[in-house]
Amino acid sequence: ISVFDHVVRAPEDPILGVTVAYNKDPSPVKLNLGVGAYRTEEGKPLVLNVVRKAEQMLVNDRSRVKEYLPIVGLADFNKLSAKLILGADSPAIQDNRVTTVQCLSGTGSLRVGAEFLARHYHQHTIYIPQPTWGNHVKIFGLAGLAVKTYRYYDPATRGLNFRGLLEDLGSAPSGAIVLLHACAHNPTGVDPTAQEWEQIRQLMRLKALLPFFDSAYQGFASGNLDADAQSIRMFVRDGGECLVAQSYAKNMGLYGERVGALSMSISGFSERLTVSVKDEQSTGSADVASRVESQLKLVIRPMYSNPPIHGASIVATILKDRAMFQEWEVELKAMADRIISMRKQLFDALRSRGTPGDWSHIIKQIGMFTFTGLNSTQVAFMTKEYHIYLTSDGRISMAGLSSRTVPHLADAIHAAVT
Ligand code: PLP
Repeated sequence: ISVFDHVVRAPEDPILGVTVAYNKDPSPVKLNLGVGAYRTEEGKPLVLNVVRKAEQMLVNDRSRVKEYLPIVGLADFNKLSAKLILGADSPAIQDNRVTTVQCLSGTGSLRVGAEFLARHYHQHTIYIPQPTWGNHVKIFGLAGLAVKTYRYYDPATRGLNFRGLLEDLGSAPSGAIVLLHACAHNPTGVDPTAQEWEQIRQLMRLKALLPFFDSAYQGFASGNLDADAQSIRMFVRDGGECLVAQSYAKNMGLYGERVGALSMSISGFSERLTVSVKDEQSTGSADVASRVESQLKLVIRPMYSNPPIHGASIVATILKDRAMFQEWEVELKAMADRIISMRKQLFDALRSRGTPGDWSHIIKQIGMFTFTGLNSTQVAFMTKEYHIYLTSDGRISMAGLSSRTVPHLADAIHAAVT
């Protein structure tokens, strides 16, 4: 008898488990709208041309070796990633107040940030939106933070519960950490407007709440990299502290390469204060940033020692070359546009079927997902009768749809609600 005989079977991951069930279904019409991975019109995974090109360049470069990266990852990649998310003209970058470490995609960046905060930040409570990406609860909880939620989504309007959000953040203890989705909120597809972001920022700064942005979809929401980073830049511009977890999984299609970055922007206020008092060049904030980085290394080293080199090299190759960067922007916009067109097609298909209910949220929501409003019974019905796989909260990945499969999905939704 095994010494592990007492181990009970764990449940499948609620998101990745959808794919497991899908793979077992022999039906030729089956459709996987569970996991958030981009598919072409033909339903195939996509490797961007610019990524293929970068890989080719890397392979052809015989001077490249496979030595370990430093604990914090590839220096070029880190510098360019900070510029991409914070903006090339970011005062925080110019003041050397930003420290960036390469991590294992978005998830790893969130986890490293969480571990750092648990060790070095005075407040151990983090507020995450209700609902949010399911992994957030586990990432922050296992890092030792106390996870609480703030109201975010209003099922009645299928939009933002802005009042609830302000009330909940307004009553959070001073200094609490707040997880914010930079854009294309997962799973709801509902984002605050620019004015709402500004109000959130003011409230959070007033209460000294610490923003921790999760940026898994930069460029994927609107098709524009700068537009999708506005929420973060608003918080960094005011000179206050800010953490950002960046993922290249979706926007560069590097899912399995596990490329991401954690950036911590240190408050610029202490620096300004010292400068004016001492009237000399001070290294205040920059020094904090470098001390923070030294501690991030202590988090990373025993966790996975150092990050993988290949994906980060692809990203750095693309980001540092103007022509390749532009090529990426075009391909990224094409992915975002295809998703937006799927929203329109699904909305039209439901309207033409006379499906009861208001489905305008399908075109109003943004990013990879539509939060349909279908309940778990309706979802189970669609899976059983139509072989359509999605998470039980009614979230569908628009990126998994194509013109060919929209009618099948519309039929299924129509049958589920009538
Ligand atoms: N955060 C959100 C909101 C996500 O939707 C995802 C991926 O689905 C991630 C983070 C992390 O993804 P990855 O670790 O693959 O970069």
